[in-house]
Amino acid sequence: MNDSNNTYETLFNAQKANQYHIGQTSYKERIKKLKALKLALEKTYRYELIEAIYKDFKKPKLETDLTEIYIVVKEIKYAISNLKSWLKNQSVETPITLLGTSSYIKYEPKGVCLIISPWNYPINLTFGPLVSAIAAGNTVILKPSEMTTNTSAVMAKIVNELFNNNEVALIEGDVEVSQELLKLPFNHIFFTGSPAVGKIVMQAAAKHLTSVTLELGGKSPTIIHESTNIKAAIQNLVWGKFLNNGQTCIAPDYVLIHESIKSEFVEAFKTKTLEYYSENPMTSESFSRIVNGKHFKRLVSYIENAKTNNANIELGGDYDEVSNYIAPTLISNVSEDALLMKEEIFGPILPIKTYTSIDEVLDYINSKEKPLALYVYANNKKFIKTIINSTRAGSTCVNSNALQYSNHNLPFGGSNNSGIGKAHGFFGFQEFSNARSVLKKHTVGPLHLLFPPYTKFKEKLVKATIKWF
Ligand code: NAD
Repeated sequence: MNDSNNTYETLFNAQKANQYHIGQTSYKERIKKLKALKLALEKTYRYELIEAIYKDFKKPKLETDLTEIYIVVKEIKYAISNLKSWLKNQSVETPITLLGTSSYIKYEPKGVCLIISPWNYPINLTFGPLVSAIAAGNTVILKPSEMTTNTSAVMAKIVNELFNNNEVALIEGDVEVSQELLKLPFNHIFFTGSPAVGKIVMQAAAKHLTSVTLELGGKSPTIIHESTNIKAAIQNLVWGKFLNNGQTCIAPDYVLIHESIKSEFVEAFKTKTLEYYSENPMTSESFSRIVNGKHFKRLVSYIENAKTNNANIELGGDYDEVSNYIAPTLISNVSEDALLMKEEIFGPILPIKTYTSIDEVLDYINSKEKPLALYVYANNKKFIKTIINSTRAGSTCVNSNALQYSNHNLPFGGSNNSGIGKAHGFFGFQEFSNARSVLKKHTVGPLHLLFPPYTKFKEKLVKATIKWF
C-alpha cells in the first residue's frame, strides 16, 4: 500500500468515527452549514470560481452564474426551506391487524459517502449532491474531475475553509485516485459521469454492498413534429444545444424532424445560431471551448467521419486545434453507422434525421438505450401524449429543453443505461438517507391470539384474517 492509499483510509476512518456525531446534528446545525456554503458560492468565492472555470474551458460568466452557482444556491435554498419537515418522523397508517401499534419512517443518514463528479458542470455536480448529503446528515469525501483542475482547486479551498475533513473532505486527483477511493467500504456512492465508468463504480460498490446513485449520460433525442412553431422551438433548441458548448448530459444529442419541415428548420437554426454567437462564433464571449485536446480530437473525428459518409454540413463544421474550438455545427443526411449516431456527442454538433411517421420515431428511439432526457416539440396533444406513453426516459421536456433540470420539485436522473437513482430536492435527500421503518407496540393487540400452540380455532382465525383483512 502506498502513502496516498494510507491517507485515504485514514481519512475514511476519521469520517467513519465521526459519522454518528454528524448524523445526530439538528436541522438547524445542518442549515448553518448549508448557509455557509451558500455564502461561499454567492459572495466569497464567486469571482474566483468564475475565473477558474473560464480558465478551464472558457465558460462564459453568465453561464457559470446560471448553471453552476445559481443551481447549487437554489438547491441549498430548497433544502433550507424543507429540511425540518424532511427530518420529521413520517407517520404511516396502521392496518387493523396491527391494532395497538403505531409506525413511522425515519430518514436516517447513510453514513460515510463518496461523491465522484465529472468536469462538464464541475461546481454544480460536486456541490449539488453535497447539499443533499449534508442535509441528510452524512460525512462526505468529494472527488471532482481531473480535467477541470482550476475549478477543483477553488472548490478544495472552499471545502477546507468550511469543514473539518472528518466531516467533508475534497480530494483532487485523477482516475487512479478515484479507483483507490472506490476500494473503501463507503455507505453510499453518488457518481456522475459516463455509463462506462458507471459500470466500474457499480462493480466496486458491489464488493461492499454499497448503495449507489449513478447519474449517467447517453444520447438524448429531440423529436420535432410538423405542428411545431419552428421559430419558437429554435430559440430554445439552439440555446440548449450550445450551452456549455454542447457538453451537457441533457443536451439534445440528435434531432428527429418531420420531413416536411426540415428545410424551414435548417434555415431557422442557422439564423438563430448566428444571432446568438455571431458570424464568427470563435470570437464570441458567449461560446465556451471543448474541455481538452482528447475530447476535441474525438469530436473532430465525428465530423470527419460524417463527411466521409456523405453527410451534409448545413452549418459550421470548422475547428481550431490550438484553442479547442469547434464551430456550432448542424449536420444532415447522417448515415446510421456514422459515429455521430452511435456515440454520445457531448459537443457542439447536432445531427438531424428526418421521419415521416410516428411509428418510425418510436421504433428508432425504442431500439436504443433509454435516454437521460427526451424532448418533444409539437402543438399536437395526441402526438405529445403518444411519444411520452410509448417511450422510456429519465426526463422529458415538452416544447423546450434542459429546463426540467432546474425544477427541484422534480426528480433528476436516468433509467438503466442513463442512470440509477435520483438527485435534487427531496429526491436527493432521500438518496443519501436510509428510510428506516419503526413500529412501536403500545398495547396487547390482537396478535397474541395467533401465538403458539396453533389450535384449530387459531387456524380458522388465520383463514379469516387472510380472507377479510
Ligand atoms: P467520466 O465517467 O469519464 O468521469 C467522471 C469521474 O469519474 C471523474 O471524476 C473521473 O476521474 C472518474 N473516473 C473516470 N474513469 C474512471 C475509472 N476508470 N475508474 C474510476 N473513476 C473514474 O465522465 P466525464 O467525461 O467527466 O463526464 C462526461 C459524462 O458524464 C457524459 O457521459 C455525460 O453524459 C455524463 N454526465 C451525466 C450527468 C448527469 O447528471 N446524469 C451530468 C454530467 C455529465
